[in-house]
Amino acid sequence: MRITIDNYSGFCFGVVYAIQMAEEILKKKGVLYCLGDIVHNDKEVDRLNSLGLKIINHKDLKKLKDCTVLIRAHGEPPETYNIALKNNIELLDASCPVVLKLQHQIKEGYEKIKSIDGQILLFGKEGHAEVIGLLGQTKGEAIVIKNEADLKKVDFNKSIYIYSQTTKSPQAYEDITQEIKKRIQGTKNKDLQYIVHDTLCRQVSGREPQLKQFSKENDIIIFVSGKKSSNGKMLFQSCKDENENSYFISDVGELDEKWFSNAKSVGICGATSTPRWLMENVQDSIMKLNLT
Ligand code: SF4
Repeated sequence: MRITIDNYSGFCFGVVYAIQMAEEILKKKGVLYCLGDIVHNDKEVDRLNSLGLKIINHKDLKKLKDCTVLIRAHGEPPETYNIALKNNIELLDASCPVVLKLQHQIKEGYEKIKSIDGQILLFGKEGHAEVIGLLGQTKGEAIVIKNEADLKKVDFNKSIYIYSQTTKSPQAYEDITQEIKKRIQGTKNKDLQYIVHDTLCRQVSGREPQLKQFSKENDIIIFVSGKKSSNGKMLFQSCKDENENSYFISDVGELDEKWFSNAKSVGICGATSTPRWLMENVQDSIMKLNLT
């Protein structure tokens, strides 16, 4: 049986940057606070915990003083920076440059659309760290849209600027923006502005076609990802669409021998938050399975 690890899977540059920054500080100081999971992968978080990384939440941050805290790739709302200033906390900002650019764009859009009494829409998942950071740029006024049902929150008689969380599916974004266009056209009000901002991260959307190809080339696909990873869910669905023998696992213990009977080739791939070492562990474990 041939087992291949997809060369395009694994950490994106945003995650690599945050982890390198954490590792450097941990080497020097032995301890570092990180606001939220540094990466949506429990196994990698466990590895960094063992080096001294302490994951904290926003309540903890308010109680801390005179220390150093890492901001992960998802970015943070302005409130976090204000708390740090007040509590003499040094922030090590590992916000991904792609997210920072989007924060800047949505802030600018918010200021513009306020002047014409319009609305900012954000296509994403309510409560996701990146979405919280983006909402903060609009004083919490952006309307978060998860799916078509959420369009009931929108007033189609007002102008609209729409942005997407970086890790959403390009097809899903296209579908929702087309639906909004239709509804605006339905109002027959020619004075309305409707601007769709392309804010998807190419590190994720660029992987989709490669993963689809990879899924076609293998009998079985083992997709390795943390369960909380948005892009993990999205990319796994792309694999599943191409190859119904695709399985989502977070760790080697979830492998099932039954999946591999009759398989001549197995492809291992993952999300932008999946460490290479974990995919290699999965490869080793498959090789050790008692397959006939
Ligand atoms: S997926 Fe894209 S936006 Fe998110 S951390 Fe990676 S590079 Fe940055």
